Amino acid sequence: IETKLPKVGTTIFTTMSQLAAEHGAVNLGQGFPDFSVPERLVEALDRAMRDGHNQYAPMTGVPALRRAIAAKTERVYAHRPDMDAEITVTSGATEAIFNAIHAVVRAGDEVIVLDPAYDCYEPAIDLAGARAVHVPLDPATFAPDWQRVKDAISPRTRMLMINSPHNPSGAMLSAADMDTVADLLRDTGIFLLFDEVYEHIVFDGARHESALRYPELRERAFVISSFGKTYHCTGWKVGYCIAPPALSAEFRKVHQYNVFCTFAPAQHAFAEMLDADPAHYDQLGAFYEAKRDRFRNQLLGTKLEPLPVPGGYFQLVDYSAVSELDDFAFCRWLTIKKGVTAIPLSPFYESPPPGQRLVRLCFAKNDATLDAAIERLQKL
Ligand code: PMP
Ligand code: GLN
Repeated sequence: IETKLPKVGTTIFTTMSQLAAEHGAVNLGQGFPDFSVPERLVEALDRAMRDGHNQYAPMTGVPALRRAIAAKTERVYAHRPDMDAEITVTSGATEAIFNAIHAVVRAGDEVIVLDPAYDCYEPAIDLAGARAVHVPLDPATFAPDWQRVKDAISPRTRMLMINSPHNPSGAMLSAADMDTVADLLRDTGIFLLFDEVYEHIVFDGARHESALRYPELRERAFVISSFGKTYHCTGWKVGYCIAPPALSAEFRKVHQYNVFCTFAPAQHAFAEMLDADPAHYDQLGAFYEAKRDRFRNQLLGTKLEPLPVPGGYFQLVDYSAVSELDDFAFCRWLTIKKGVTAIPLSPFYESPPPGQRLVRLCFAKNDATLDAAIERLQKL
Protein backbone atom coordinates (compact mmCIF):
# COMPACT_ATOMS: atom_id res chain seq x y z
CA ILE A 1 0.00 0.00 0.00
CA GLU A 2 0.98 3.61 -0.40
CA THR A 3 1.94 4.44 3.15
CA LYS A 4 0.85 7.67 4.81
CA LEU A 5 3.88 7.67 7.09
CA PRO A 6 6.80 6.55 4.92
CA LYS A 7 9.45 7.73 7.39
CA VAL A 8 7.92 5.92 10.37
CA GLY A 9 8.96 2.50 11.62
CA THR A 10 8.66 0.95 15.07
CA THR A 11 9.59 3.52 17.75
CA ILE A 12 13.10 3.53 19.13
CA PHE A 13 11.64 2.96 22.62
CA THR A 14 9.92 -0.28 21.58
CA THR A 15 12.92 -1.38 19.55
CA MET A 16 15.37 -0.88 22.41
CA SER A 17 13.08 -2.39 25.08
CA GLN A 18 12.68 -5.50 22.91
CA LEU A 19 16.43 -5.75 22.41
CA ALA A 20 16.99 -5.30 26.16
CA ALA A 21 14.54 -8.11 26.93
CA GLU A 22 16.10 -10.41 24.31
CA HIS A 23 19.57 -9.96 25.79
CA GLY A 24 18.70 -9.66 29.46
CA ALA A 25 20.17 -6.16 29.58
CA VAL A 26 19.52 -3.60 32.32
CA ASN A 27 17.00 -1.39 30.55
CA LEU A 28 17.76 2.30 31.04
CA GLY A 29 16.33 3.03 27.60
CA GLN A 30 12.57 3.62 27.38
CA GLY A 31 11.54 6.17 30.00
CA PHE A 32 9.57 4.51 32.76
CA PRO A 33 10.09 4.08 36.52
CA ASP A 34 10.74 0.57 37.84
CA PHE A 35 9.50 1.37 41.35
CA SER A 36 5.98 1.15 42.73
CA VAL A 37 3.22 3.68 42.36
CA PRO A 38 2.03 5.16 45.70
CA GLU A 39 0.08 2.48 47.60
CA ARG A 40 -2.75 4.92 48.18
CA LEU A 41 -3.16 5.35 44.41
CA VAL A 42 -3.48 1.60 43.89
CA GLU A 43 -6.07 1.44 46.68
CA ALA A 44 -7.95 4.38 45.17
CA LEU A 45 -8.00 2.68 41.76
CA ASP A 46 -9.20 -0.58 43.31
CA ARG A 47 -11.91 1.27 45.21
CA ALA A 48 -13.00 3.23 42.13
CA MET A 49 -13.58 -0.03 40.27
CA ARG A 50 -15.41 -1.64 43.22
CA ASP A 51 -17.52 1.49 43.64
CA GLY A 52 -18.75 1.00 40.10
CA HIS A 53 -16.87 3.66 38.14
CA ASN A 54 -16.52 1.26 35.25
CA GLN A 55 -18.58 2.87 32.50
CA TYR A 56 -17.80 5.75 30.15
CA ALA A 57 -16.47 8.78 31.92
CA PRO A 58 -17.74 12.20 30.83
CA MET A 59 -16.09 13.05 27.51
CA THR A 60 -14.07 15.94 28.94
CA GLY A 61 -13.03 14.07 32.07
CA VAL A 62 -14.45 13.21 35.50
CA PRO A 63 -15.51 16.49 37.19
CA ALA A 64 -13.68 15.71 40.45
CA LEU A 65 -10.44 15.28 38.52
CA ARG A 66 -10.88 18.43 36.45
CA ARG A 67 -11.61 20.32 39.69
CA ALA A 68 -8.48 18.86 41.29
CA ILE A 69 -6.37 19.80 38.23
CA ALA A 70 -7.74 23.36 38.38
CA ALA A 71 -6.87 23.58 42.09
CA LYS A 72 -3.39 22.15 41.54
CA THR A 73 -2.73 24.53 38.66
CA GLU A 74 -3.79 27.48 40.78
CA ARG A 75 -1.61 26.35 43.67
CA VAL A 76 1.47 25.83 41.53
CA TYR A 77 1.13 28.45 38.78
CA ALA A 78 -1.14 31.07 40.40
CA HIS A 79 -3.67 30.70 37.60
CA ARG A 80 -6.92 28.75 37.90
CA PRO A 81 -8.20 27.38 34.59
CA ASP A 82 -11.96 26.90 34.20
CA MET A 83 -12.56 23.21 34.88
CA ASP A 84 -15.51 23.05 32.49
CA ALA A 85 -14.29 25.12 29.57
CA GLU A 86 -10.51 24.73 29.69
CA ILE A 87 -9.46 21.32 31.05
CA THR A 88 -9.75 18.05 29.13
CA VAL A 89 -8.54 14.71 30.49
CA THR A 90 -6.84 12.56 27.85
CA SER A 91 -5.40 9.10 27.42
CA GLY A 92 -1.85 10.20 28.13
CA ALA A 93 0.00 13.25 26.88
CA THR A 94 0.45 11.45 23.56
CA GLU A 95 -3.28 11.62 22.85
CA ALA A 96 -3.36 15.27 23.93
CA ILE A 97 -0.50 16.15 21.57
CA PHE A 98 -2.24 14.38 18.67
CA ASN A 99 -5.55 16.13 19.45
CA ALA A 100 -4.04 19.60 19.78
CA ILE A 101 -2.28 19.30 16.44
CA HIS A 102 -5.34 17.93 14.66
CA ALA A 103 -7.59 20.54 16.31
CA VAL A 104 -5.88 23.51 14.66
CA VAL A 105 -3.23 22.44 12.14
CA ARG A 106 -4.55 22.25 8.58
CA ALA A 107 -3.21 20.62 5.43
CA GLY A 108 -0.39 22.75 4.03
CA ASP A 109 0.38 24.43 7.36
CA GLU A 110 3.81 24.43 8.99
CA VAL A 111 4.61 23.51 12.57
CA ILE A 112 7.91 24.54 14.14
CA VAL A 113 9.59 21.74 16.09
CA LEU A 114 12.79 22.22 18.10
CA ASP A 115 15.25 19.35 17.56
CA PRO A 116 15.95 17.05 19.32
CA ALA A 117 12.20 16.50 19.73
CA TYR A 118 10.05 13.76 21.24
CA ASP A 119 9.12 11.16 18.65
CA CYS A 120 5.33 11.53 18.51
CA TYR A 121 5.33 15.14 17.32
CA GLU A 122 6.22 14.78 13.66
CA PRO A 123 3.95 11.83 12.72
CA ALA A 124 0.93 13.71 14.11
CA ILE A 125 1.92 16.75 12.03
CA ASP A 126 2.38 14.56 8.94
CA LEU A 127 -1.04 12.94 9.41
CA ALA A 128 -2.59 16.41 9.52
CA GLY A 129 -1.13 16.98 6.03
CA ALA A 130 1.13 19.67 7.46
CA ARG A 131 4.91 20.00 7.47
CA ALA A 132 7.27 19.98 10.44
CA VAL A 133 9.89 22.72 10.19
CA HIS A 134 12.84 21.66 12.32
CA VAL A 135 14.93 24.23 14.18
CA PRO A 136 17.94 22.82 16.03
CA LEU A 137 18.53 23.54 19.71
CA ASP A 138 22.08 24.47 20.70
CA PRO A 139 24.03 21.18 20.45
CA ALA A 140 25.90 21.85 23.71
CA THR A 141 23.23 23.36 25.97
CA PHE A 142 19.97 22.39 24.22
CA ALA A 143 18.82 26.00 24.55
CA PRO A 144 16.64 27.41 21.77
CA ASP A 145 18.13 29.97 19.39
CA TRP A 146 15.12 32.29 19.18
CA GLN A 147 16.51 34.15 16.19
CA ARG A 148 16.51 30.88 14.27
CA VAL A 149 12.96 30.21 15.43
CA LYS A 150 11.97 33.68 14.26
CA ASP A 151 13.64 33.06 10.91
CA ALA A 152 11.68 29.82 10.55
CA ILE A 153 8.31 31.57 10.91
CA SER A 154 6.46 31.90 7.61
CA PRO A 155 2.91 32.91 6.64
CA ARG A 156 2.09 29.19 6.82
CA THR A 157 3.31 28.69 10.40
CA ARG A 158 0.37 27.51 12.48
CA MET A 159 2.00 26.17 15.64
CA LEU A 160 5.19 26.24 17.68
CA MET A 161 5.90 23.14 19.79
CA ILE A 162 7.91 23.52 22.96
CA ASN A 163 8.91 20.89 25.52
CA SER A 164 10.25 22.01 28.90
CA PRO A 165 11.75 20.31 30.87
CA HIS A 166 13.03 18.77 27.71
CA ASN A 167 13.18 15.13 26.66
CA PRO A 168 15.93 13.98 26.03
CA SER A 169 18.23 16.69 27.48
CA GLY A 170 16.41 17.92 30.61
CA ALA A 171 17.00 21.55 29.51
CA MET A 172 14.48 24.07 30.79
CA LEU A 173 13.25 27.38 29.46
CA SER A 174 13.91 30.47 31.58
CA ALA A 175 11.52 33.33 32.33
CA ALA A 176 13.45 35.36 29.74
CA ASP A 177 12.80 32.62 27.16
CA MET A 178 9.09 32.79 27.93
CA ASP A 179 9.08 36.55 27.39
CA THR A 180 10.90 36.06 24.11
CA VAL A 181 8.32 33.50 22.98
CA ALA A 182 5.57 36.00 23.84
CA ASP A 183 7.36 38.68 21.77
CA LEU A 184 7.80 36.28 18.85
CA LEU A 185 4.16 35.21 18.75
CA ARG A 186 2.53 38.58 19.48
CA ASP A 187 0.27 39.68 16.62
CA THR A 188 0.61 36.32 14.85
CA GLY A 189 -2.00 33.60 14.56
CA ILE A 190 0.50 30.99 15.75
CA PHE A 191 -0.64 28.55 18.42
CA LEU A 192 1.66 27.16 21.03
CA LEU A 193 1.82 23.54 22.11
CA PHE A 194 3.61 23.42 25.43
CA ASP A 195 4.57 19.89 26.45
CA GLU A 196 5.16 20.08 30.20
CA VAL A 197 5.00 16.40 31.14
CA TYR A 198 8.11 16.76 33.36
CA GLU A 199 6.80 19.97 34.98
CA HIS A 200 7.33 18.71 38.54
CA ILE A 201 10.69 17.05 37.97
CA VAL A 202 12.98 20.07 38.24
CA PHE A 203 16.23 20.41 40.14
CA ASP A 204 18.64 22.73 41.95
CA GLY A 205 15.90 25.06 43.18
CA ALA A 206 14.89 26.03 39.63
CA ARG A 207 11.33 27.06 38.85
CA HIS A 208 9.50 25.42 35.97
CA GLU A 209 8.25 28.14 33.65
CA SER A 210 4.81 26.91 32.67
CA ALA A 211 3.04 28.66 29.81
CA LEU A 212 0.15 28.89 32.29
CA ARG A 213 2.03 31.55 34.26
CA TYR A 214 2.10 33.87 31.23
CA PRO A 215 -1.26 35.40 30.22
CA GLU A 216 -0.08 36.20 26.70
CA LEU A 217 1.16 32.67 26.15
CA ARG A 218 -1.71 30.78 27.72
CA GLU A 219 -4.28 32.54 25.56
CA ARG A 220 -2.82 30.76 22.51
CA ALA A 221 -1.49 27.59 24.17
CA PHE A 222 -2.38 23.96 24.57
CA VAL A 223 -0.58 23.11 27.81
CA ILE A 224 -0.14 19.36 28.13
CA SER A 225 0.87 17.20 31.07
CA SER A 226 0.75 13.56 32.14
CA PHE A 227 0.09 11.72 35.40
CA GLY A 228 2.33 8.93 34.13
CA LYS A 229 5.38 11.03 35.00
CA THR A 230 4.17 12.39 38.32
CA TYR A 231 2.70 9.21 39.85
CA HIS A 232 5.15 6.65 38.43
CA CYS A 233 2.48 4.97 36.30
CA THR A 234 3.35 5.48 32.62
CA GLY A 235 1.22 2.45 31.73
CA TRP A 236 -2.00 4.02 32.97
CA LYS A 237 -1.91 6.61 30.17
CA VAL A 238 -3.78 9.50 31.75
CA GLY A 239 -2.86 13.08 30.90
CA TYR A 240 -4.60 16.35 30.29
CA CYS A 241 -4.69 19.50 28.21
CA ILE A 242 -5.35 23.02 29.48
CA ALA A 243 -6.32 25.49 26.77
CA PRO A 244 -8.57 28.56 26.46
CA PRO A 245 -12.27 27.81 25.83
CA ALA A 246 -12.22 28.26 22.05
CA LEU A 247 -9.14 26.04 21.69
CA SER A 248 -10.48 23.47 24.14
CA ALA A 249 -13.70 23.30 22.12
CA GLU A 250 -11.74 22.40 18.98
CA PHE A 251 -9.49 20.04 20.96
CA ARG A 252 -12.55 18.19 22.29
CA LYS A 253 -13.93 17.67 18.78
CA VAL A 254 -10.86 15.54 18.08
CA HIS A 255 -10.78 13.91 21.51
CA GLN A 256 -14.43 12.82 21.37
CA TYR A 257 -13.95 10.97 18.10
CA ASN A 258 -10.48 9.73 18.89
CA VAL A 259 -11.12 7.96 22.21
CA PHE A 260 -14.31 9.73 23.44
CA CYS A 261 -13.15 9.44 27.04
CA THR A 262 -10.27 8.24 29.18
CA PHE A 263 -10.16 5.20 31.53
CA ALA A 264 -12.70 6.17 34.20
CA PRO A 265 -11.41 4.37 37.33
CA ALA A 266 -7.97 5.99 37.07
CA GLN A 267 -9.55 9.44 36.79
CA HIS A 268 -11.34 8.89 40.11
CA ALA A 269 -8.14 7.60 41.67
CA PHE A 270 -6.09 10.62 40.55
CA ALA A 271 -8.82 13.00 41.76
CA GLU A 272 -8.58 11.40 45.20
CA MET A 273 -4.77 11.59 45.21
CA LEU A 274 -4.59 15.22 44.14
CA ASP A 275 -7.06 16.21 46.84
CA ALA A 276 -5.57 14.04 49.60
CA ASP A 277 -1.90 14.76 49.04
CA PRO A 278 -1.33 18.03 47.20
CA ALA A 279 2.24 18.06 48.52
CA HIS A 280 3.12 14.98 46.43
CA TYR A 281 4.23 17.27 43.62
CA ASP A 282 6.43 19.33 45.92
CA GLN A 283 8.70 16.45 46.85
CA LEU A 284 9.02 14.95 43.38
CA GLY A 285 11.91 17.22 42.38
CA ALA A 286 13.92 16.30 45.50
CA PHE A 287 13.14 12.61 45.01
CA TYR A 288 14.54 12.60 41.47
CA GLU A 289 17.34 15.05 42.26
CA ALA A 290 18.77 12.52 44.74
CA LYS A 291 18.63 9.85 42.03
CA ARG A 292 20.22 12.18 39.49
CA ASP A 293 23.09 13.09 41.84
CA ARG A 294 23.76 9.52 42.89
CA PHE A 295 23.72 8.26 39.28
CA ARG A 296 25.91 11.12 38.06
CA ASN A 297 28.52 10.41 40.74
CA GLN A 298 28.54 6.77 39.73
CA LEU A 299 28.90 7.69 36.04
CA LEU A 300 31.92 9.84 36.85
CA GLY A 301 33.65 6.54 37.69
CA THR A 302 33.10 5.30 34.12
CA LYS A 303 34.34 6.42 30.71
CA LEU A 304 30.96 7.93 29.92
CA GLU A 305 30.75 11.67 30.36
CA PRO A 306 27.49 12.83 31.94
CA LEU A 307 25.99 16.14 30.76
CA PRO A 308 24.18 18.49 33.18
CA VAL A 309 20.54 17.54 33.90
CA PRO A 310 18.38 20.53 34.94
CA GLY A 311 15.09 18.56 34.91
CA GLY A 312 13.27 15.40 33.81
CA TYR A 313 14.50 11.88 34.43
CA PHE A 314 17.02 11.33 31.66
CA GLN A 315 20.79 11.56 31.78
CA LEU A 316 22.62 12.24 28.53
CA VAL A 317 26.12 10.80 28.33
CA ASP A 318 28.88 11.36 25.79
CA TYR A 319 30.51 8.06 24.86
CA SER A 320 33.35 9.46 22.70
CA ALA A 321 35.96 8.02 25.07
CA VAL A 322 34.51 4.51 24.60
CA SER A 323 33.60 4.10 20.96
CA GLU A 324 33.66 5.52 17.44
CA LEU A 325 30.37 3.82 16.57
CA ASP A 326 27.36 5.90 15.62
CA ASP A 327 24.72 6.15 18.34
CA PHE A 328 22.47 3.37 16.96
CA ALA A 329 25.34 0.94 16.61
CA PHE A 330 26.68 1.95 20.02
CA CYS A 331 23.31 1.30 21.70
CA ARG A 332 23.02 -2.11 20.06
CA TRP A 333 26.58 -2.99 21.09
CA LEU A 334 26.02 -1.71 24.63
CA THR A 335 22.88 -3.85 24.97
CA ILE A 336 24.16 -7.01 23.33
CA LYS A 337 27.79 -7.02 24.48
CA LYS A 338 27.69 -5.02 27.71
CA GLY A 339 24.18 -5.67 29.04
CA VAL A 340 22.96 -2.07 29.42
CA THR A 341 20.33 -0.45 27.22
CA ALA A 342 20.34 3.25 26.31
CA ILE A 343 18.46 5.30 23.71
CA PRO A 344 20.34 6.82 20.74
CA LEU A 345 19.66 10.49 20.14
CA SER A 346 19.47 10.53 16.33
CA PRO A 347 15.79 9.48 16.17
CA PHE A 348 14.97 12.77 17.94
CA TYR A 349 16.38 14.77 15.00
CA GLU A 350 15.62 15.51 11.38
CA SER A 351 19.40 15.79 10.92
CA PRO A 352 21.53 14.92 13.94
CA PRO A 353 24.64 17.08 14.50
CA PRO A 354 27.49 15.32 12.66
CA GLY A 355 29.82 13.43 14.96
CA GLN A 356 27.53 13.72 17.98
CA ARG A 357 28.20 10.83 20.36
CA LEU A 358 25.35 11.10 22.85
CA VAL A 359 22.96 8.52 24.27
CA ARG A 360 20.18 8.81 26.84
CA LEU A 361 19.95 6.84 30.08
CA CYS A 362 16.79 6.86 32.25
CA PHE A 363 17.46 7.22 35.98
CA ALA A 364 13.84 6.74 37.12
CA LYS A 365 14.95 3.43 38.59
CA ASN A 366 15.56 1.76 41.93
CA ASP A 367 19.09 2.13 43.25
CA ALA A 368 19.64 -1.59 42.71
CA THR A 369 18.84 -1.25 38.98
CA LEU A 370 21.15 1.72 38.59
CA ASP A 371 23.89 -0.06 40.58
CA ALA A 372 23.61 -3.10 38.30
CA ALA A 373 23.94 -0.87 35.24
CA ILE A 374 26.92 1.01 36.69
CA GLU A 375 28.71 -2.22 37.54
CA ARG A 376 28.54 -3.10 33.82
CA LEU A 377 29.34 0.42 32.61
CA GLN A 378 32.48 0.51 34.76
CA LYS A 379 33.86 -2.25 32.56
CA LEU A 380 33.63 -0.24 29.31
N1 PMP B 1 6.00 14.20 25.81
C1 PMP B 1 7.21 13.89 26.28
C2 PMP B 1 8.30 14.90 26.19
C3 PMP B 1 7.45 12.64 26.83
O1 PMP B 1 8.66 12.33 27.27
C4 PMP B 1 6.39 11.71 26.90
C5 PMP B 1 6.56 10.33 27.47
N2 PMP B 1 7.80 9.92 27.69
C6 PMP B 1 5.14 12.08 26.40
C7 PMP B 1 4.99 13.33 25.86
C8 PMP B 1 4.00 11.13 26.39
O2 PMP B 1 3.37 11.00 27.63
P1 PMP B 1 2.28 9.89 27.90
O3 PMP B 1 3.00 8.64 28.24
O4 PMP B 1 1.45 10.43 29.02
O5 PMP B 1 1.48 9.73 26.66
N1 GLN C 1 8.30 8.90 26.62
C1 GLN C 1 9.10 7.72 26.84
C2 GLN C 1 10.56 8.03 26.57
O1 GLN C 1 10.91 9.11 26.16
C3 GLN C 1 8.70 6.61 25.91
C4 GLN C 1 7.27 6.42 25.70
C5 GLN C 1 7.04 5.41 24.63
O2 GLN C 1 7.63 4.35 24.64
N2 GLN C 1 6.25 5.74 23.71
O3 GLN C 1 11.35 7.16 26.77
